[in-house]
Amino acid sequence: MFTVEIAGLTGAAAVRSGQRTLKVAYNKLSALMRTLGSQGIRVLSINGETQANTPEPAPAAPVTSSPAPAAKPAAKAAHASVPVNLYKPKAPFEATITENYSLLADGAIGRVNHITFDLSGGEPQLHYVEGQSIGVIPDGVDANGKPHKLRLYSIASTRHGDNMQDNTVSLCVRQLEYKNEAGEQIYGVCSTFLCDIEPGAKVKVTGPVGKEMLLPEDEEANIIMLATGTGIAPMRTYLRRMFEPTERERNNWNFRGKAWLFMGVPTTPNLLYEADFNHYLSQYPDNFRYTKAISREQQNAEGGRMYIQHRVSEFADEIFAMIEDPKTHVYMCGLRGMEPGIDEAMSTAAAAKGLDWSTMRPALKKADRWHVETY
Ligand SMILES: Cc1cc2nc3c(=O)[nH]c(=O)nc-3n(C[C@H](O)[C@H](O)[C@H](O)COP(=O)(O)OP(=O)(O)OC[C@H]3O[C@@H](n4cnc5c(N)ncnc54)[C@H](O)[C@@H]3O)c2cc1C
Repeated sequence: MFTVEIAGLTGAAAVRSGQRTLKVAYNKLSALMRTLGSQGIRVLSINGETQANTPEPAPAAPVTSSPAPAAKPAAKAAHASVPVNLYKPKAPFEATITENYSLLADGAIGRVNHITFDLSGGEPQLHYVEGQSIGVIPDGVDANGKPHKLRLYSIASTRHGDNMQDNTVSLCVRQLEYKNEAGEQIYGVCSTFLCDIEPGAKVKVTGPVGKEMLLPEDEEANIIMLATGTGIAPMRTYLRRMFEPTERERNNWNFRGKAWLFMGVPTTPNLLYEADFNHYLSQYPDNFRYTKAISREQQNAEGGRMYIQHRVSEFADEIFAMIEDPKTHVYMCGLRGMEPGIDEAMSTAAAAKGLDWSTMRPALKKADRWHVETY
């Protein structure tokens, strides 16, 4: 049985209560967390009591083409205390912009900005962990005169924020632009709102949301990261938590595993947070590896453009050797279009080893080791 301590009961109960505790069996824990999360109820703590009839969690097994290993209760229980929906669209938090600057170098394609929001002063204080997302409601109204709907953005700062004061959140936003059927240039509503916003402006934010991209607690885990464009946002948070000196000093978490970042961009000036990553490479050469796919500048083995899946194919043997280790997690983030290419590369590589990716991938997912957030 687990004892779950909660606060802020609202909604159906129609009464705001103080703290309460609930008793729940392990197999009901995730369902309870989902229900609490959807009602905006904050989980303060979860304590497990091992009883004679409660089976011990099975150790994680390597994932091969054999049947899926069981999901790890410890990981699920740890995730249960992650904050969700502290602020909802009907009552968003008004954050203040503190910084907004371009992440691109001269000659880059498009517009990508790093934008920081001050979250101080809220009750409750909006807080989050690495791998979550924040909702933004842009000012103004849509074509029907209704307020704009929220858009989600992956958080690009660690829980401590870029200033380490636990009161900011940063995002990495690409301005959406495309030509419509009539050939007119269209700019995305929220991404343009954010890329244009000035420090001092107030913005309605919601969340945090998401438990798909959380980092494992294990300091010896191996983390393979596959990012395209702004999909780098969660990876930046992981890498800061792993290698940034201020983070290592602050957190009781000293990463000792292997972190391998695959990053796909169209041109070199489009690389994001490059100076930080190069610094981590120089400081942690045994723990950090960084592989780039620069589509318009590099060629794949067939002479075509170099996309991230070509790099995955190129290093497939090493990637599969790492995946055999139960300590290895894979994270994928970026435009949805990246998924089929990665899947194909993994299928081909698995087949070459006599493995079946179509059974391996669900097994990895079930073991909480395959994490995807594409949009
Ligand atoms: C979990 C999650 C995390 C995300 N994280 C990030 C992030 O870290 N950074 C980031 O920049 N974005 C991120 N996004 C995307 C973000 O939520 C918005 O979708 C994005 O900024 C565009 O919103 P917008 O208001 O600017 O565009 P809108 O004005 O809403 O326009 C989007 C619409 O334009 C149309 N459209 C788009 N492209 C084309 C095209 N080529 N041709 C024709 N029509 C088209 C589609 O109908 C689309 O729905 C994330 C999304 C999710 C779900």
